[in-house]
Amino acid sequence: YNLQIGTENQFMLDFGLFPNPTDTLTLIPFENSFHERYNRFPLEDVTDSGYGSEENYRFMDENGIEAYVKYNFFHKEQRADKYVTNPFKQENLYYNKEKDYYVCPMGQHMERTGVRHSRTESGYVTESIAYSVARCEGCPLRCMCFRSKSQRRTIEVNHRLKEYKQKARERLTSEKGIKHRRQRCIEPEAVFGQIKYDMGYKRFRHFGKDKVTMDFAFFAIAFNIKKMCAKIKNQKMTDK
Ligand code: SF4
Repeated sequence: YNLQIGTENQFMLDFGLFPNPTDTLTLIPFENSFHERYNRFPLEDVTDSGYGSEENYRFMDENGIEAYVKYNFFHKEQRADKYVTNPFKQENLYYNKEKDYYVCPMGQHMERTGVRHSRTESGYVTESIAYSVARCEGCPLRCMCFRSKSQRRTIEVNHRLKEYKQKARERLTSEKGIKHRRQRCIEPEAVFGQIKYDMGYKRFRHFGKDKVTMDFAFFAIAFNIKKMCAKIKNQKMTDK
């Protein structure tokens, strides 16, 4: 099972067991499970890039959850100057939103040439728009611009995802976002570390989802009680 946990101050607030190995598809059912438990959605979500899909961003946006959720390439964007300044990268091409065209590095307009819809594993439909230049023959920048053997460069843009990523980038690089990112390594990751290495809970001791859920639920209750006791003890010591 793919075990998901939600934590705050290293207390486990919720957990979920999923059959799918990737994290992307677990976010929405996990948020819904949180809602069932607490009759509300969390105010903020802080996750790594495995959860940064259009479908997930949209869900969080529509349910008032502030998303501090990374997407693929977030770290690359932050670290690599070449990535940010490369004028050939699709993300760095100028876009005229009003007239809906891109401008290639040689100054040609890339006009809208098509729309592609695709369905994710969960059935969510995404929309990408294709933009192409009229021609690339004879362009001196051709060898640096794109690799395909096509006669002209075409790019595909998912505008909705682009906007969600922009919002996520602003949040993640804000003062609060940086604090959350720092905190994340000592939140669920630390809890997983304590579960696996301090407490030796590396394997479920039952088969079947119901039994495994029961197994982990007891463990989570015990884990939280242990945390609470340690907290009370520390508090008493600092009060002395
Ligand atoms: S190769 Fe085509 S898309 Fe690239 S810069 Fe030249 S004209 Fe523009």
